[in-house]
Amino acid sequence: MDEPLRILFVSAEVAPFAKTGGLGDVVGALPKALAALGHDVRVVMPFYQTVREGNFALTEAFSDLHVPLIVGDRTTRVWRSLLPGSEEAGHPVPVYFLEQDDFFGRPGLYGAQEGDYPDNAIRFTFFCRAVLTLTARFEAFPHVVHCHDWQTGLIPAYLRVLPWLDARLSSVATVYTVHNLAYQGVFPAWAFPLTGLPPQLFQPDGIEFFGSMSFMKAGLLYADGLTTVSPSYAEEICTPDLGFRLDGVLRARRTALTGILNGADYTVWSPEQDPAIAAPYSAADLSGKVACKKALLQTFNFPQDLDTPVVGMISRLVDQKGFDLVAAALDRLLTLNVRFVILGSGYAPYEEYLTRLSTTYPEKIGVRLGFDDALAHQIEAGADCFLMPSRYEPCGLNQLYSLRYGTIPIVRATGGLRDSVEPFDPVTGQGTGFVFQEASGEALLTAVTEALAVFADRAAWWQLVQNAMRQDFSWERSAARYVERYRQLLAAKPRPSSAS
Ligand code: ADP
Repeated sequence: MDEPLRILFVSAEVAPFAKTGGLGDVVGALPKALAALGHDVRVVMPFYQTVREGNFALTEAFSDLHVPLIVGDRTTRVWRSLLPGSEEAGHPVPVYFLEQDDFFGRPGLYGAQEGDYPDNAIRFTFFCRAVLTLTARFEAFPHVVHCHDWQTGLIPAYLRVLPWLDARLSSVATVYTVHNLAYQGVFPAWAFPLTGLPPQLFQPDGIEFFGSMSFMKAGLLYADGLTTVSPSYAEEICTPDLGFRLDGVLRARRTALTGILNGADYTVWSPEQDPAIAAPYSAADLSGKVACKKALLQTFNFPQDLDTPVVGMISRLVDQKGFDLVAAALDRLLTLNVRFVILGSGYAPYEEYLTRLSTTYPEKIGVRLGFDDALAHQIEAGADCFLMPSRYEPCGLNQLYSLRYGTIPIVRATGGLRDSVEPFDPVTGQGTGFVFQEASGEALLTAVTEALAVFADRAAWWQLVQNAMRQDFSWERSAARYVERYRQLLAAKPRPSSAS
């Protein structure tokens, strides 16, 4: 029973090839941890324009993948590369890219400034259908197909209804991971027939969703196993508060749902070996962190004042991330001895709001708009604290990175933030950050004030930084939990009738 598994990861984002948020980080890292446990792991994603232009080492894997599609069959080329770092670690993880320029040869992953691409339903129907065709071209069928977020939600549905195509499909275990339930891939009913799925699936106990169709719901209903990215979020999405109208479906499938906390890829996020930061440092020798703070102050045109704490934020600028709480507390935050450095991109009104703040209070608030990976590393290294006042947070990765960089997280107690940051107690010297419960400016202000008080006490702060940097959220532990789940699901599947 302990034979190595063949696991196929399917995702619309895989770092460093394409990433808009945590999904990319997870799928760029978890496969490496699974491969290190001895499994045959492969990853498949679309061949976006950014990948084509990204200077990655690519070879052609297949030139003629025939993908049946209602809007017209496609012949697709498949490129292959390796997850960076996987070969060096002795466990190469191939990544397959499905080329279809009319769908993916565009500047954005999901849309442009004006909004989502209008044909996303067709783009990702193609992706899901093509993945199934690709599996049949591998020398052996995967034991597990592990799908991520709405873009892949149709795959478990196809695998339920398509086994007549190939009997071996019925022994494949499907796992569907929710990285953020808010993004559901809901499309008008006219998109349903384009999937080629049988009409009886378009009903309320199928993938119909209040008169529309939902890719996310397809994944939730038809995957053998469901996971999400923290134990707390697994609980929260089963409630009307954070269930985004899918809590009923999730409650019905509660026994299939597990919360497994994400890890951090410490090969990419470690201050000891981070090429993007001004100087390396470790818990034993923090002198490099001072150099990083100086560099960060300079980047944001602040004076070289090391005594004033710097609070960093790196975020998509969306309601979820709690910028309204910052706005509610702003007047009083500005009276404190603290500076903010904020990197973000997203919703235009938030971008305008932050720009206004940085021009009104240039001595207190520094803002960079856009997606800038190197600057994200520099903020992690150079800031003293990291603020995540999220209204909800499935897992959150930046607080995990912050812990490793000794940049103390100030977080709201929700989802993975609750599961990964332990409130600091100055009396016992235990804990790793500052945690507030209520989604209010008041509660945020109290937590920041508490952090500043500890910052002023050098010995207590040093202890806190040591506690934070010694936390271990490596992927190894989470990967072992996924394997356990895969094996449980496979045990419940029919054995393949012929060797595969
Ligand atoms: P989410 O997936 O909701 O965006 P996570 O905390 O799980 O939030 O992951 C966010 C990831 O995206 C982190 O790696 C973070 O550093 C990165 N990120 C977010 N916004 C930016 C940005 N503007 N520039 C660079 N990296 C960013």
